[in-house]
Amino acid sequence: MFVDIAKISIKAGDGGDGAVAFHREKYVASGGPDGGDGGRGGNIVFVADDNLSTLADFRYKRKYKAAKGENGRGARQNGKKAEDLVIRVPRGTLIREVESGRLLADISGKEPVIVAKGGKGGWGNSHFATPTRQTPRFAKPGQPGEEFEVQLELKLLADVGIVGFPNVGKSTLISVVSQAKPVIANYHFTTITPVLGVVRMGPESSFVMADIPGLIEGAGDGLGLGHQFLRHVERCRLLVHMVDVSGSEGRDPKEDFRIINEELKKFNPEMAQRPMIVAGNKCDLTDDEVVDDFRKFIEDQGYKFFPIMAAIAYEVEPLLKEIQEQLSKLPPITVYEAEPAPLPDEDEIGNREVKVENHGGVYFVEADWLLRILRTIDFSDSDSLQYFQRVLIGAGVIDALKKAGIQEGDTVSMYDFEFDFIE
Ligand code: GDP
Ligand code: MG
Repeated sequence: MFVDIAKISIKAGDGGDGAVAFHREKYVASGGPDGGDGGRGGNIVFVADDNLSTLADFRYKRKYKAAKGENGRGARQNGKKAEDLVIRVPRGTLIREVESGRLLADISGKEPVIVAKGGKGGWGNSHFATPTRQTPRFAKPGQPGEEFEVQLELKLLADVGIVGFPNVGKSTLISVVSQAKPVIANYHFTTITPVLGVVRMGPESSFVMADIPGLIEGAGDGLGLGHQFLRHVERCRLLVHMVDVSGSEGRDPKEDFRIINEELKKFNPEMAQRPMIVAGNKCDLTDDEVVDDFRKFIEDQGYKFFPIMAAIAYEVEPLLKEIQEQLSKLPPITVYEAEPAPLPDEDEIGNREVKVENHGGVYFVEADWLLRILRTIDFSDSDSLQYFQRVLIGAGVIDALKKAGIQEGDTVSMYDFEFDFIE
């Protein structure tokens, strides 16, 4: 079975905890604090693997968790950072956060992408020694790793997609122009998996063609087989619309052409604007007048038309040349940009729970919701900072600090962000 959608949960590793320790040596009365920092938790990393063509593996294993960073130890020994957890997916896999629908990554390139960041390690007590605080008996816990429920969605990367009714000869064409070996048979829906083929046009020139399983009427509405494959043509730079000109199955080729275009448009209106070439297949089963009449019908609508016999690769060359010619002028395959995490609306944040601890005049603030916001704040941007201030007031963080006894000039520590408290 071809699986091109999957839902999994990913959790990056938590950071290791900082250590509370004091230097000990024979004959030395009491040494200074020397607790080391915790190590970073492992990231969750996605990488494209061209040996994979489906998301089937994710039906069986749905939970992915990276390891926690090592805790710090005495003698300023920092904990080791944990290894990243690498998840391999077929090239062209989109990763969306289920909760918001936000795109976290498009795994289309060569580089691995960090999708969930491991938590930073907590500082050991050696960080907190000051002239007035020589024996800090506290350290910071590691930060939690990012955690998401994600939807994986495969959207193939191909230059050209062949679309058309079942049985018109799409798989036959790709098999005669590339090394791809799709299943070819004289019945509908033989292709249940999109097949990619590399078409070599010369020593330096090639393009990728995708054989998209048969589209049928109603596919755009989710009826019948086909709709689930439409996503795979969304990225194609060019479409080859294949029609059985002979009407060998009793349908009218003109009607076929209209119906498929309608389906594409219903699925995504932008698809109607996608450059398209029309290939009239099975010319051996009809006569020239029928082909010429169909040619006129197509050319009147502004499309280029190529009559072929895919089964014997007859007149396939001019079609390929035209594809190559058009591709050379078209923009590259779309790679989607990840969407940044939106900042919560400050008016809607309301009073939030927050933990404040005073350790020798440093006020540690901790809250999961706050960490999420902190990750998205740009501290070099004044608008972003002002937003953050309003959030701290609105959510009751400032009040909580006052309740804990904070004084002007004391230090506030929020994860790895520190500032002096000024009213
Ligand atoms: P798909 O469903 O569009 O992928 O169609 P296939 O490539 O599986 O082909 C369906 C049937 O049409 C097969 O039996 C092919 O052998 C046949 N076919 C493909 N090209 C031609 C052609 O040029 N002429 C004729 N007569 N039959 C063809
Ligand atoms: Mg097929």
